[in-house]
Amino acid sequence: MTTEEKKEKLTDIMASFIGHTAIHLPDDVVSKLEALRAAEDDPAALSIYDMMFKNMRLAADLGRPSCQDTGLVQFRIECGSRFPLIHQLSEILHDAVMKATAETPLRPNAVEIFDEYNTGSNTGTGAPALFWDIIPDSDSCGIYTYLAGGGCSLPGQAMVLMPGDGYEGAARIVLDRITSYGLNACPPLLVGVGIAGSIETAALHSKLALLRPVGSHNPNEKAAAMERLLEDSINAIGIGPQGLGGSSSVLGVNIEYSVRHTATIGVAVSFGCWTHRRGHIVFDSNLDCTTDTHHGFTCGR
Ligand code: SF4
Repeated sequence: MTTEEKKEKLTDIMASFIGHTAIHLPDDVVSKLEALRAAEDDPAALSIYDMMFKNMRLAADLGRPSCQDTGLVQFRIECGSRFPLIHQLSEILHDAVMKATAETPLRPNAVEIFDEYNTGSNTGTGAPALFWDIIPDSDSCGIYTYLAGGGCSLPGQAMVLMPGDGYEGAARIVLDRITSYGLNACPPLLVGVGIAGSIETAALHSKLALLRPVGSHNPNEKAAAMERLLEDSINAIGIGPQGLGGSSSVLGVNIEYSVRHTATIGVAVSFGCWTHRRGHIVFDSNLDCTTDTHHGFTCGR
């Protein structure tokens, strides 16, 4: 296969995978929604869950996105330094987003800053967003896809705290955002919390936290304990699915972190909505692929 043929193959698979993730929620999110419904006894909340499952069935049957807001497309790339198409990957993902936008179709959401026009393709200056990590001595490539909706992006916040604010300060930011804008994000929510030394590292961690499986916990016991505390605290507010009340308001709370400066605690929070459209696909050097998020996706289809 020539390089051009390989580029075309990878573009086609990624466009197909992006479209698939717009229509079908990831397996872990579906399982969590089933568990939340089974544990719920509030009549309004139960009817909302039933509507969500009907929505999922109709999206699959009709081949249409699970929400009209198909978001801005973002990628987390964990690419081996010896992956054959590493140098072409930015162009491939750009073209895959254009193709998925036309073929799925996805709603065009990318608006150019200052010039204020919709590009019509979900691409543009800095779009799609690519968050790279190069893996030494590897010839495979893992790609997380994420469709960042407007409503679930709205409550996001990042700031730098004084050390005296402590981890209680981080918790306060999360709970303030949940109680002020959480409804706009279509709960139950996946809450991604980033803690680091500066604002941009915390913000990136909060987004990466959203890519972790629902139901997973940070391997650090203290971080995992904070995840559970925040989850219990948010559920105790009683927001419920779509804000109509209920025993659960979150799919989970995921915390990711890196070191902080002695004089600062950077904190950020990002949110995923009930249609948390995250996908993960891994390519080997022959461009054969597997996904651990969507059991119904066939690579190369
Ligand atoms: S928050 Fe999520 S479910 Fe609600 S409108 Fe936005 S993308 Fe759709």
